[in-house]
Amino acid sequence: MNEIWFAGGIVADGSGAAPSPADVCVRDGVIIRIGTAPADATTIDLDGMLLTPGLIDAHVHLGLSSPIRAQFGFQLSAAEIAADIFTTASRTLDAGFTTVRDTGGIDGGVVDVIAKGKVRGPRVLSCGPVQCQTGGHGYYGAAWEPTELWETHHIPGLAALSLMAGNADELRRNVRESFRRGATFLKLCVTGGVVGGHDSLDDTQFTSAEIAVAVEEAAARGTYVTVHAHNNAGIRNAVEAGVRCVEHGTDIDEPTATLMREHDVALVPTFAVIEQIMDPEALDVDPSTRDRLADTRRRMVEALRISRAARVRIGLGSDLLGAGQHRRGEELRLRAELESPMQALVSATSVNADILGIGDDVGMLRVGMAADMVAWARNPLDDARVFADPDMAAFVVKGGRIMKGDTR
Ligand SMILES: [Zn+2]
Repeated sequence: MNEIWFAGGIVADGSGAAPSPADVCVRDGVIIRIGTAPADATTIDLDGMLLTPGLIDAHVHLGLSSPIRAQFGFQLSAAEIAADIFTTASRTLDAGFTTVRDTGGIDGGVVDVIAKGKVRGPRVLSCGPVQCQTGGHGYYGAAWEPTELWETHHIPGLAALSLMAGNADELRRNVRESFRRGATFLKLCVTGGVVGGHDSLDDTQFTSAEIAVAVEEAAARGTYVTVHAHNNAGIRNAVEAGVRCVEHGTDIDEPTATLMREHDVALVPTFAVIEQIMDPEALDVDPSTRDRLADTRRRMVEALRISRAARVRIGLGSDLLGAGQHRRGEELRLRAELESPMQALVSATSVNADILGIGDDVGMLRVGMAADMVAWARNPLDDARVFADPDMAAFVVKGGRIMKGDTR
């Protein structure tokens, strides 16, 4: 591939450093120079636009891209579920996200077909199915449905929401099965959740000894465990068992934040999904779900403040559900309101890349790193609503290839 210069833009490199004018040269999918384009260079003119690393969403559910009740009620064909997943993957790229970490719901085939370029989408790192305890968060079957029927909702290669384990041995088998089917990290639900009918936000799920089994299996493959967790007791169980990341973290208090810091455990707060669930037009969920959420946002804001003060690494994840996943950048807009647009950008780029374990390749605009980049039609650091508007992502470049944008 020839050299192309993305010229005339203002570079915000993902480190948090002040943006400055620079031209970026790409060859074979990699950034090879940052400086000033020579006069005879092949250029894409960015005309003063802000150029950032491609955004990373550390908490997505591509596999839940259809109306949720219909999907788990056997009302949709595999073809329709696939179509909805592929639509979400494509819209994710259009919104400026070049990498996502799928925290439960797709099977390895989806990762594979996007990586091969047969389906348009971002880089995808996936845990495959969520690991949940019998009847815990992640189980959406009816209370009286026989346990063994739950996994018949799986569609091999396409969708696999969760695997249930009743004890440590079953968990070990299930995580090995998840790796067999393409998982590159693990996610366990260690507390109750917001969406789901069989548990409470105050519950803890899996014992610390059980969580440690998953940590051991992940370590054996050179990877890590993240956990869905809202309450402190569940988070502490997980941190003591050796997990590397906490999703949601709604009730994190100062002692828990300090413990996370001591163990270098990262936090991925998820605000966009709260807004989505609170809006009856946006998502079709049981009304009791909205009642559960009433106080969640306030507590999650407090957890973010406490975790920041304790110097916990804080990433960014939208956790969007269902068919309406096109405005993934809402998570940056919400975080910008709570902190700053630059802080949101850093969390969504270099910090998320570190949490995902790919910080040497993506998340910053640096020589030697993959050319994953977005040029914004207006400056999102001046107005963070720009992050939330897919029309503002004028150029989206993944691995040096222009996936979106007019190159005339
Ligand atoms: Zn989630």
